[in-house]
Amino acid sequence: MASPHVLIFPLPLQGPVNSMLKLAELLSLAGIQVTFLNTDHIHRRLLRHTHVQSRFSRYHNFRFRTISDGLPEDNPRSGEQVMEIFGAIDAVTRPLFREMMISGDLSSSGVTCIIADGVFDFAVGVAKEIGVPLIYFDTISPCGLWTYLCVPKLIEAGDLPFEGKDLDAKITCVPGMEGFLRHRDLPSFCRTSNVADPIIQLVMREVQQIPRAQGHIVNTFEDLEGPILHQMRSLCPNLYPIGPLQAHLKARLGAGTTSPQSPSSNSLWEEDKSCMAWLDAQPPKSVIYVSFGSLALMTMDQFMEFWYGLVNSGKRFLWVRRPGSVAQKEGESEIPSELSQGTKERGCIVAWAPQEEVLAHPAVGVFLTHSGWNSTLESIVEGVPMICWPYFVDQQVNSRFVGEVWKLGMDMKDTCDRTIIEKIVRDVMEVRRDEFMQSANLMAKLARESVGEGGTSYHSLDRLIDDIKSMRFGIPN
Ligand code: UDP
Repeated sequence: MASPHVLIFPLPLQGPVNSMLKLAELLSLAGIQVTFLNTDHIHRRLLRHTHVQSRFSRYHNFRFRTISDGLPEDNPRSGEQVMEIFGAIDAVTRPLFREMMISGDLSSSGVTCIIADGVFDFAVGVAKEIGVPLIYFDTISPCGLWTYLCVPKLIEAGDLPFEGKDLDAKITCVPGMEGFLRHRDLPSFCRTSNVADPIIQLVMREVQQIPRAQGHIVNTFEDLEGPILHQMRSLCPNLYPIGPLQAHLKARLGAGTTSPQSPSSNSLWEEDKSCMAWLDAQPPKSVIYVSFGSLALMTMDQFMEFWYGLVNSGKRFLWVRRPGSVAQKEGESEIPSELSQGTKERGCIVAWAPQEEVLAHPAVGVFLTHSGWNSTLESIVEGVPMICWPYFVDQQVNSRFVGEVWKLGMDMKDTCDRTIIEKIVRDVMEVRRDEFMQSANLMAKLARESVGEGGTSYHSLDRLIDDIKSMRFGIPN
């Protein structure tokens, strides 16, 4: 029997690459040979800002390979322009990948299984051509993914296209979410009057291909999303919920030693660690950590509302201002003195933070987040309540779950007003603090248990490893 060799192919964005590298390390730890296929752009940035090369060099059976993403180097690959990645991948990466696997340098490397991002609908065809099983890994939230899988139902029910109807209208055709899902909580691309939108079409292709894979890895745990996983199994019976991945990797790296290793960075930007010393000087649970991830953009007006809201709340704050994340208008660079003064007294601003370490710091009391799935899970693991300002895709669903289902914080989607921000910060940090801390602590405990020996995610990962080793899958049909 051929020795197990997995090809891992992430969507070339910070969140998916981060999750897939963690999975790659977990599989490498289990002795499985791994080839990690990065785009040239992502790989260059990882090499510039992290130690991935030396970190993975201790796994003799691990190697990186690269492929073009089809975009010019200066494309920002963020905000609304992120959609350009999908067009370029389709036109350029798709044929290159097929060639690489069928007649190119990976054709003779003995790949026995492909793990690809769920959005790569073409991976099913390639896996079938070379006769190996395909496992999809959707790195977005399962609650978000389930709403994607229900897009055909939404069209059938007349909820899509969206004809300027009431955003607060209840959505009743997404099984498992009937009681609380409103139109405004659907993925951002559902606010369209045109179902021929490229992103809806992309999702429809994904929905068709997903059930054709032999298995699905998801970054979650049963105690968090059990009812959603139950619904998903009706379409994808072979699910591997192995999250939260960052906690899982830490647990397995630390197994047998007294102190688990510190998190390993997969950042595409230079981490500014000076904020850790600043946090060390702040009282316990006094700081609001503000970050909107690697893709979200905001207008100058929204940026000013957040800044006033944070300063007026009187709380300390650590704010990640990713370069290029605010649309700067001509002549708007003057900073009002009350903002610079308040920031000097109580704030710390960095371009990119070591987020997992920040969230684990005792000074952090709340996370103002765009509700990206990695950020959400990182906050859950550290028991930090959230204030959610979702930007796009699954984030609208995630923030509804945080506020309404898991009661881990408050959802302020579709509003951006300094008085509301100030009030929500006070509500989460003072008025309702005990209530949120209690649920956040409980969920953090359940998250850790799930990845510990005997936990549900621990068990799922062992099953995935066994299945890869024994190749107990069929071939895509
Ligand atoms: N992140 C980080 N430093 C920052 C901001 C974000 O390391 O200053 C990491 C964060 O820990 C997370 C990832 O970037 O793992 C963002 O992924 P997420 O799914 O939350 O959002 P996306 O960037 O895909 O919108």
